[in-house]
Amino acid sequence: MSIAKGRALVTGGAGFIGSHLCERLLADGYDVLCVDNYYSSTKDNIAHLLEDPRFEVIRHDVTFPLYVEVDEIYHLACPASPIHYQRDPVQTTKTAVHGSINMLGLAKRTGAKILTTSTSEVYGDPTVHPQTEDYWGNVNPIGPRACYDEGKRAAETLFFDYHRQHGLRIKVARLFNTYGPRMHPHDGRVVSNFVVAALEGRPLTVYGDGSQTRSFQYIDDLIEGLLALMNSADDVTGPINLGNPGEFTIAELAGLVIEQTGTSAGIDYLPLPQDDPVRRQPDITRAKELLGWEPTIPLSDGLSRTIQYFRDTLT
Ligand code: UDP
Repeated sequence: MSIAKGRALVTGGAGFIGSHLCERLLADGYDVLCVDNYYSSTKDNIAHLLEDPRFEVIRHDVTFPLYVEVDEIYHLACPASPIHYQRDPVQTTKTAVHGSINMLGLAKRTGAKILTTSTSEVYGDPTVHPQTEDYWGNVNPIGPRACYDEGKRAAETLFFDYHRQHGLRIKVARLFNTYGPRMHPHDGRVVSNFVVAALEGRPLTVYGDGSQTRSFQYIDDLIEGLLALMNSADDVTGPINLGNPGEFTIAELAGLVIEQTGTSAGIDYLPLPQDDPVRRQPDITRAKELLGWEPTIPLSDGLSRTIQYFRDTLT
């Protein structure tokens, strides 16, 4: 039996990103404690890990305190897709803010190193392109995305204040759009929406004219980045962008999905949601220099793996 490397807590561990992270940490020899309230995640994502004696799951909402003994905390818990985080916006802000306070308190008591997954949404509808970490963002504080954007901005504030005030070892990652197997088929995110629609023979739903851009990173690349950040020197606190700088219009993405799935159902153009950012592309100079990390999986490859996953799992 391998010697455990340490005890890692993953909040939001049954989510799309969390489940991949749990899997990877187990493979790397950690004892993994997965915490989730299944608000926007599913037990199916972690079912294959339950047999592992080094894997443990607690159903828990991070807006309430948690008393466990761990060495490293990956704090991911928060609904991240617009349809999920806008369903109960007050709860979204509570999750981002109270959840962070609780996990930072846990880190303070145990001395654990703590990483949080912040978001490119802190840049709002950016006026600087591509987005560097020192850009302060352009967020509408009272719009429908604010519960998430401002919640995550407050969470970053808390991380840096706990670091300065209490000397906590913190790591703040800003995640750009991420896709891959185990995205929820009804998550509402553009990649899953397009792929699922194509496979079910429905038209792809493009919001607006499809000229807005996003940069899509494949899940495996992100997991490497999160591990590199957690294992970096203590003075590397972030914030640090983790994303794939390849920038695509939503129309281009639709074209790729149509090409790879062979769907003939076409495209439905629907209204653009309020405050939908026009452009988004990470500047990853900092991640390259400080972590030696950069994504390696191009959109066409990641997309074909994702299409295969949905082909295998959609009934
Ligand atoms: N989008 C779209 N069709 C969909 C879902 C999303 O055209 O079925 C667009 C959406 O308006 C946005 C982009 O795709 O411009 C990315 O949306 P998503 O919800 O995936 O993530 P966001 O980056 O907006 O948080």
